[in-house]
Amino acid sequence: MSERGWCPFARQHRGYGREGPFGYPAGKHGQNRPVIFVDHRMAGFKHTLDDDSWRHRNGVSVHFGIGRDGSVDQYISIFDAGWGNGVGRPISRYDRSNPRLAMLETLGTWRAVTMRGYTTYALISESGVNVINTHSISIEHEDEGRDQPWTDAMIDATVRVKRWCLHELARAAMPMTADEHMLVGHHQIDATDRASCPGRHWPRQRILEELVKGGKMPTAEYEELYRRDEEIKTVLALVNTKVEQLQNLMKLVIPLVAKDEPEENAKIKELLAALGGG
Ligand SMILES: [Zn+2]
Repeated sequence: MSERGWCPFARQHRGYGREGPFGYPAGKHGQNRPVIFVDHRMAGFKHTLDDDSWRHRNGVSVHFGIGRDGSVDQYISIFDAGWGNGVGRPISRYDRSNPRLAMLETLGTWRAVTMRGYTTYALISESGVNVINTHSISIEHEDEGRDQPWTDAMIDATVRVKRWCLHELARAAMPMTADEHMLVGHHQIDATDRASCPGRHWPRQRILEELVKGGKMPTAEYEELYRRDEEIKTVLALVNTKVEQLQNLMKLVIPLVAKDEPEENAKIKELLAALGGG
């Protein structure tokens, strides 16, 4: 896949096995249709996540890593499905009060997945795909495992990344509806094993407020552009039909033009040629 889905201001880990593992089966592109952002808190340092071989060795796969210094790294395209949102036990605390999470739950069945003797649950579709991972953008935030307050630089960066994602999704004609339900913490998916992800300092409200600054959702302008684009296409189609009808009419009229009026005749032919129908 080309540049599509790669954030221009992120340090990009892509190509030649550098990007994180993704897809079902592994390596399959283009499976993500994001309806939510899932925010996470890193147990460690960002430079660990930035290490391409470490991510591959550990099967770690998220879209973005954001440092306390505001640095942004991207590990997979936002149009590819990461592996970041597993659920431990029990699944009864999955946050069904969020309508998007409730909707996603209807797309799959909870299945136990045992890896290295540890059982987690995954919401799996009929075709064997993890439903949450194919409908979300996962963003890790550096915390060094201390559950400490977020820096302004990190908050600014996560807002910038999310805003870019909303634009990129709209540009690809798969806009994520921008409202309060779009922003989910990992604990809303896994309330037991990930109860403190992204942690008690997660500035959810501030992130949402900055994203919708000025009372205008960042995708609204794009939706307006798409609407106008559709209108223009409709008008153009109508114009093309009219031109075609006009050309056909001219073809019928030409032979009827008096042969002894060569000047008018030539003029008509010239106009017809200009229409592309001569
Ligand atoms: Zn998490």
